[in-house]
Amino acid sequence: MIATDLQSGVAVLGDMIAAASVIVPFTGAGISTECGIPDFRSPGGLWTHNRPIPFDEFVMSQDARDEAWRRRFAMEAVFAHAKPGRGHRALASLYRAGKIPAVITQNIDNLHQASGFAADHVVELHGNTTYARCIGCRQEYDLAWVKQHFEAGKAAPDCPACGDPVKTATVSFGEAMPEEAMQRATELAQHCDLLLAIGSSLVVWPAAGFPLMAKNAGAKLVIINREPTEQDDVADLVIRHDIGETLSPFVRN
Ligand code: NAD
Repeated sequence: MIATDLQSGVAVLGDMIAAASVIVPFTGAGISTECGIPDFRSPGGLWTHNRPIPFDEFVMSQDARDEAWRRRFAMEAVFAHAKPGRGHRALASLYRAGKIPAVITQNIDNLHQASGFAADHVVELHGNTTYARCIGCRQEYDLAWVKQHFEAGKAAPDCPACGDPVKTATVSFGEAMPEEAMQRATELAQHCDLLLAIGSSLVVWPAAGFPLMAKNAGAKLVIINREPTEQDDVADLVIRHDIGETLSPFVRN
């Protein structure tokens, strides 16, 4: 069912939230656009400026690594100053109320943690861009360390421990999905009674499989996104509206 207007959509959503005992949100870049972080596919989104650098290119080419880090440093002010939006805060309210055990997210911006979710209750399918990691030995590094070495050597640094490249702790296109996160997301999707897909175009697989997985396991599915998605037909409720406005009635401070 597609909500005819925001008010009736919020009313139905409120009833569904009240009736559910275990709610699992599945979030995408759209929940963070009001925090100043552009999504990928909207007009003006990141893809309109930069072609993503696939994992194998990052591994093979120093130029690609330099470019990847230049782009990341160019976004630093945006990521460093972003604060949780109304969508994040509404979900954190439901988490504190005991309705949400954990959030599954495609986002890499750390804003669910900043809104009050324990780090262990944020299942990051695509990693986290607020720190770096060696792609070989998995040693973690602060971004400040990478920046200092990049500037000193005029190139993206390799791991001092093992010599492999250091990358943001994100999952690049062509890189394997994190097994533990996939496993935890599967368990959450299969054991909730309401899945809220929020701000995702639902075109990036395998992540986009989790809303369908929950629906197939018997959960109700709600999609909140200002554009249509391919899963709207199977959803119990679709709210095609701004996420912050839709979820602000559920914020409890
Ligand atoms: P996407 O860009 O493919 O889709 C975002 C969707 O959100 C779009 O359909 C857009 O219409 C909608 N949207 C944007 N702002 C909205 C708003 N205020 N209200 C309602 N809808 C809104 O993003 P995706 O599905 O998450 O996939 C992109 C991938 O890019 C993710 O896997 C993620 O790893 C990465 N990414 C993350 C961030 C972040 O961490 N904030 C930002 C950009 C990209």
